[in-house]
Amino acid sequence: MTNNPEKNWFGYKQIDENEKTSLVMDVFDSVAPKYDIMNDAMSFGIHRLWKNRLIREINPRPHYKYLDVAGGTGDIAFKIQEKCNGKADITICDINYEMLNIGRDRAIDKGQVNKYSWITGNAETLPIPSSSMDIYTIAFGLRNVTRIDNALQEAYRILKPGGRFYCLEFSHVTEPFFKKIYDIYSDMLIPKMGEIIAKDKDSYQYLVESIRKFPKQEELAQRIKNAKFDKAGYKNLSNGIVAIHIGEKL
Ligand code: SAM
Repeated sequence: MTNNPEKNWFGYKQIDENEKTSLVMDVFDSVAPKYDIMNDAMSFGIHRLWKNRLIREINPRPHYKYLDVAGGTGDIAFKIQEKCNGKADITICDINYEMLNIGRDRAIDKGQVNKYSWITGNAETLPIPSSSMDIYTIAFGLRNVTRIDNALQEAYRILKPGGRFYCLEFSHVTEPFFKKIYDIYSDMLIPKMGEIIAKDKDSYQYLVESIRKFPKQEELAQRIKNAKFDKAGYKNLSNGIVAIHIGEKL
């Protein structure tokens, strides 16, 4: 398999790889104001349970340094901080200023804005020193990155020896009957909800298509290994609707 096979795909549309990042930026510029409401509506609130499960896997400790890539409106960082009683050193990085801005507003409402470093940056070329972080997280972000293999190599670069990589992402349902129901739900209802709630059908059509185009669990685990991670493995949640991929830099 060549590197970055999804770089020419924006959902089901074939594009030039140089266009993809700006198309993804447009999606998140458009959905940012309704992003959190839509997450609850589409998943019936279950995205909160998936994120809680990710936090349990990480088992956060206050003395670690955390980088949450594609951190968006801050859910993962807030949950890590909560587990660490406000003592964690967390950097939130996202390519999209609008998403980060909403995250920052949420942190202000919690009285916590100074507990995080907020940076705009691309997962493929992180503005972060090498071997500087203990934990790298990316939740529902990797699917949107143009060159996934480059992002995995960057994750490896910025982690300290002993550091851990965690990716929570939509994946592929393993049980055939459940897959049929899930596919019908995705095709019929998600773009419709996007149209009604976020007034943006196209971005939610992209969501459905980008999930289908994302590598299957085994393939992503292999690509994490190819990026030099040891002990690369994954756990399916909700029958593979999402998966947590883990890698360790030894
Ligand atoms: N992690 C948050 C969560 O779980 O709710 C937000 C996930 S949201 C679906 C995806 C985020 O990935 C968006 O905020 C988007 O701007 C960001 N993103 C997309 N491509 C990126 C890239 N190449 N580098 C960094 N962030 C990116």
